[in-house]
Amino acid sequence: MTHLSRRDLMGAAVAAAMLPRLTFADPAASRPTRYIAAYDTESPACLAACRQIVAVHKRLEMPATFFITGTTLQANAKEYKDLLADPLFEVASHTWSHKLLRDHPLCGRAASPDEQRQEIFKSKELIESVFERPCLGLRPAVGFDNAFKGAPDLLKLVHEAGYRYVSSLLWGPDCSMPALIEPPFHYGPDGFPGLWELPGHGWHENLLKDNNRWGARRLTLWPSPMPKGIPADFVKTPHDEFEVNRVFLEAALETKKPHISLIWHPWSLNGFDPQMKMLELTFNHARTLNLTPSTYANLLP
Ligand SMILES: [Zn+2]
Repeated sequence: MTHLSRRDLMGAAVAAAMLPRLTFADPAASRPTRYIAAYDTESPACLAACRQIVAVHKRLEMPATFFITGTTLQANAKEYKDLLADPLFEVASHTWSHKLLRDHPLCGRAASPDEQRQEIFKSKELIESVFERPCLGLRPAVGFDNAFKGAPDLLKLVHEAGYRYVSSLLWGPDCSMPALIEPPFHYGPDGFPGLWELPGHGWHENLLKDNNRWGARRLTLWPSPMPKGIPADFVKTPHDEFEVNRVFLEAALETKKPHISLIWHPWSLNGFDPQMKMLELTFNHARTLNLTPSTYANLLP
């Protein structure tokens, strides 16, 4: 063992103090938390909404992932190409026509195996032919509280179609809201180690505003793992919505999560806040917190 004098140690300490701020802790802990703006683009009303949304993203140079259904893209392919071909944006699949890929206790029964194949394959093919770049991700309609775990037939189709990730974990335990801030994982335990799950977090914002006209529902857990993320009532203003969002952004940062991404729908955002004030408040806060703006594709290992 080399003997170090007190002078050597002091010299090393001074040299270390002069270095830029370095973290010697667990490298995973020093990785930045990514902020991912993402949109489930799924109905005719989404086109006008996306025009507003894209303008905010370009102005603030904020990347985003647009998950889009095949039928929505097919109806206005040129318009969507003009809007979303910008390198700021990732375009990924939100299935062909929003049919369910698994049973969901609040949203309905899964489509047939043949329909599932179409939902998974056809949207990817259309996105790739319109945008002339690979479609890496699939966000299934509505999402699930167990992601695609224990669904080998579904995972096989997703793998066969050539996706690199799914974003299907979009509910909290026992199909509750909000979806907790879960980190990515791969489907190795189900036999597909190269296929990643990149979860979404927080509320399906349409439910926060009662935009589905569900009214009061049994949606939250008790006791809640995230009581601060549950507002006392439907949000009424863009600022109310931002106050919910900031809870998730700040919690992701404090707990050193790899990413935070809220579950947004253009049709619902535009109906509530056509000026997209909430986007601006949220993006500015993400920057203030030093979250790293990203897309889902950029989160892949
Ligand atoms: Zn959807």
